[in-house]
Amino acid sequence: MKASRESRRAASSDTAPLARTHRPEPVRVIGLTKRYGDVVAVGGLTLTVRRGEVYGFLGPNGAGKTTTLRMLVGLVSPTAGLAEVLGATPGAPSSLARIGAMVETPALYPYLSGRDNLTLLAMQAGVPRRRVQEVLEAVGLAQRARDRFVTYSLGMKQRLGVAAALLKDPELLLLDEPTNGLDPIGVAEMRTLIRRLGDEGKAVLLSSHQLGEVEQLCDRVGVIFRGRLVTEGTVQELRGRGGVLIRATPLDRAETGLVALLGRDRVTVRGDSLYAEADPDEVASITRHLASDGIDLHEVRREERSLEDVFLALNADQEGGGRADDVT
Ligand code: ATP
Repeated sequence: MKASRESRRAASSDTAPLARTHRPEPVRVIGLTKRYGDVVAVGGLTLTVRRGEVYGFLGPNGAGKTTTLRMLVGLVSPTAGLAEVLGATPGAPSSLARIGAMVETPALYPYLSGRDNLTLLAMQAGVPRRRVQEVLEAVGLAQRARDRFVTYSLGMKQRLGVAAALLKDPELLLLDEPTNGLDPIGVAEMRTLIRRLGDEGKAVLLSSHQLGEVEQLCDRVGVIFRGRLVTEGTVQELRGRGGVLIRATPLDRAETGLVALLGRDRVTVRGDSLYAEADPDEVASITRHLASDGIDLHEVRREERSLEDVFLALNADQEGGGRADDVT
């Protein structure tokens, strides 16, 4: 009897079971899973988004990014696992009041202007009207604010969606592909805006297909394939140390020398060159070492890995590996 009363109390509370600290992380997810019949949209996802952090969610089409964001705003119930948003269960009024989300296409009135749409949303949310002008300016839509929503381009609708998400001056922003449909200037402006929000101490979780954008914008990145997080880290951590491409003769002696210096696993032969994984500050000692062995160096070129290289390599691994549909 006592146990069932307690469980009823827990079920009716806004506070998520993960909330243990005074200032919980904006997003904490453990083993989050969503199945649609046989399809595992999200399969045992675990991640944390911290305050002041812009976290990029990367993954191919159908990887489970939108489903995750939908679960975090309470639009979709998980099949299994735990999620906590600003210390509360997703969808709880106490968390929704402090979240700005653009996960669905914003449901706005087509024949009202952008400004009037935002004013209505501001009234519903109890936000002062002056905030409408602030967010219109923040997303670069102030000049077109009097035009009807139906006349907006895709990029302008996208900007208005982000403006709506910013109205409540939220602590956490959940943005599904915020630069979708924006022109290059719009992409750069949106990047600056999101970066500023992170620098102001807000947490931002965004999904994107634009690897260059994520590379420039995000503090940390999580890569999701078939509903599973396959890697996570800062952009620098994901890119790794990079390396040097060395054209030298005789190649076999250069290879032996490099293996002795760096170890077998950091040296590979690429055609008539050698590739050595190395930090930038190791390059000088590598060239010195080879030259002192009497090896002729014809070219030594530093190569950084881009996020795209990392993503494509992960994709190749995943295609070669097993499917993620076997989660419990
Ligand atoms: P994209 O980059 O294309 O937007 P995504 O990473 O956001 O993709 P999701 O939209 O989360 O991917 O979809 C993940 C998987 O779940 C896909 O296989 C999708 O078909 C499936 N899925 C999503 N919503 C539903 C639903 N309501 N019913 C059935 N399957 C669904």
